[in-house]
Amino acid sequence: MIIVLKREASEETAREILGRIEEKGLKPLYMPGTERIVLGALGDERVLGQLGLDGHPMVESLKPILSPYKLVSREMHPHDTVVRFGGTVIGGNAFAVIAGPCAVETEERLRESASAVAAAGAIGIRAGAYKPRSSPYSFQGHGPEGLATLRAVGDELGLPVITEIMDTADVEAVAEKADMLQVGARNMQNFALLKALGKVTKPVLLKRGLSAKVEELLLAAEYLLAAGNEQVILCERGIRTFETATRNTLDLNAVAYMKQKTHLPVFVDPSHGTGVRDLVAPMALAAAACGADGLLIEVHHNPVDAWSDGAQSLYPHQFQALMETLRPVLAAVGRDLA
Ligand code: PEP
Ligand code: MN
Repeated sequence: MIIVLKREASEETAREILGRIEEKGLKPLYMPGTERIVLGALGDERVLGQLGLDGHPMVESLKPILSPYKLVSREMHPHDTVVRFGGTVIGGNAFAVIAGPCAVETEERLRESASAVAAAGAIGIRAGAYKPRSSPYSFQGHGPEGLATLRAVGDELGLPVITEIMDTADVEAVAEKADMLQVGARNMQNFALLKALGKVTKPVLLKRGLSAKVEELLLAAEYLLAAGNEQVILCERGIRTFETATRNTLDLNAVAYMKQKTHLPVFVDPSHGTGVRDLVAPMALAAAACGADGLLIEVHHNPVDAWSDGAQSLYPHQFQALMETLRPVLAAVGRDLA
């Protein structure tokens, strides 16, 4: 429920109402604006009825929050959220590109790929230290050593780093080393992990599950916000459909939809979204055109030799060319490259 207070309502009145909301076991929200104070109450709205707020002299109006995801919804928070990634800001007018190899392979290899994406203008480096692989016999990532390598290379280049978190047991270690934590498609509904990530002070990039509906992605994000972390980026990375020509079907409808329904920044990963190197750039441009706030792209200095996802990894020169073609597309939709 959104509770709009009258213009003349004092902060003291707001605090008194918030206290009553909390007493009923609901989650109170305080949203002071320039013109008036707006309050929120999350939980069973029938309980809220018992507070008799519709008759309160300082309450202007009561509005139920219709969407099942309350904190993530624009109804609750009309302005765009910005997310801090190292020293940069994601979600404003600037369009952010984060790139790097699928996995941390060796320090030399990461340095080579990461330097190339940095030189082309990426604002951050991606690389997995913990890899969720379909087969238990595939390269699983170097774990803690991979994290240390990623941190070291990020520091060398002066760029923030993002890496995947797969297990609640690793949350502290990954949050200590990474500037942003990625929840992969396979863990989108790992609710224990989401609750744990709600408590960290680093931002989270939440990828859409392979077969997840947009509503399920938004409800998964709601777990993060409800647990206390508002620094969340949503990421469309393709879904499984009947189509087999590409690895996944990149759902750009979801991007435009989520930009309307939520205040969180929305990223697109055209690498996993297509699985095909030559389709990455066209879909990256399409993502920029349809309102995404940034891209997560796999780039490897030598994709044919990559330990994972080589077929969808760009060569550095392709990434550089993409960065150049992004500029006019972004300018056409009134945005700049970060
Ligand atoms: C990745 O980013 O390398 C990855 C495993 O992505 P996803 O979870 O989208 O499959
Ligand atoms: Mn990958």
